[in-house]
Amino acid sequence: MRPRRHTRQIHVGPVAVGGDAPVTVQSMTTTRTADVDGTLAQIYALAAAGADIVRCTCNEEEAAEGLARIVPRSPVPIVADIHFQYRLALGALEAGVAALRLNPGNIRRPDHIRAVASEARDRGVPIRIGVNGGSLDPDLYERFGGATPEALVASAVHELALFEEVGFRDVKISVKASSVPLMIDAYRLMSETTDHPLHLGVTEAGPPPHGLIKSVAGIGTLLAEGIGDTIRFSLTADPVEEARAGRKLLEVLGLRERKGLDLIACPSCGRAEVDVIRVAREAEAALAERNIPLQVAVMGCVVNGPGEAREADLGIAAGRGKGHLFVRGQVVRVVPEAEMVDALVEEAERITAEGIDARLAAADAGAAAEAAAARAELLALQGTDANDDAGRIARVRDVAG
Ligand code: SF4
Repeated sequence: MRPRRHTRQIHVGPVAVGGDAPVTVQSMTTTRTADVDGTLAQIYALAAAGADIVRCTCNEEEAAEGLARIVPRSPVPIVADIHFQYRLALGALEAGVAALRLNPGNIRRPDHIRAVASEARDRGVPIRIGVNGGSLDPDLYERFGGATPEALVASAVHELALFEEVGFRDVKISVKASSVPLMIDAYRLMSETTDHPLHLGVTEAGPPPHGLIKSVAGIGTLLAEGIGDTIRFSLTADPVEEARAGRKLLEVLGLRERKGLDLIACPSCGRAEVDVIRVAREAEAALAERNIPLQVAVMGCVVNGPGEAREADLGIAAGRGKGHLFVRGQVVRVVPEAEMVDALVEEAERITAEGIDARLAAADAGAAAEAAAARAELLALQGTDANDDAGRIARVRDVAG
């Protein structure tokens, strides 16, 4: 991970973006903004899933009026998304939104852009210049021969210049595209061009898993290079999935503290004593439902499981019809295989309530010895080459040699 590039800091309501502020997660509602109760229900779900900032479309007068009712009741700052009609931007500012997103590709008249920027300046409300490869200004498209990184950056720079004419610099920028290489190059160029904070995203990424992979590839690459101050996954899915995925990406990159479950599991192999995929799924569902903030491992065998997952807070490994429950690599309890998931959940709840040290101190006296015996038994049965690699290689040589 490269150190984060320095950007100036802006504030979206109480949430700082840029500078030394943590990278934030954004998502967008899919309800009609005029449906105040439906939109608020989705905003609460997004906030619970990890969104720090939520955007709502402001595409009609009723939407601007809806924002006036939504903003005071929202648990997170609200950004109004504006396309084509600059008057709706003025309406959203009047409604009290914490920020605007303007698309320079479809609000193009300089006097309209200056009017919005002047009003935002007077109210102390930031604006995101949201350039999008798919809706690039046609003049720029022609001048650059397509939606190139240079064209996307030129669009943002042109808008910035209009803002600066009225003394408005409270700006963050996105240069999104649905092509991952294009958006990566555009953001790299943008970060060399300006110190305004950058909002990262792969636009129209599509449904999961395809959309998730594209978003992680694009956003993750840039974050690892130190580029990016706030992110949004644009998935064709329930937006709660977007918020959850965005938060998870920041957690796995070490850019935000883990606030929920981190379930790790071995990929299974010839040594597996249990159906690892099934047990991992059952454990994940049960632990996520309880919002357990631990790293929990599900390992297919006691031969390697507790050792390989020794950094996990808690884990379970199968062996000889038993589940070997371990805390930070130390086996603390042995339970029948059928009770593995229940025992894991119970131990997770006890660790959350009592702490790791207390649970290590309360380990069953014979558990470690029982696990060692099962491990020795399995090694005696399977040898050190449970996948029979040596045997396979010998047979390959017989056939191919
Ligand atoms: S050796 Fe054991 S823990 Fe490692 S992948 Fe195979 S079953 Fe899983």
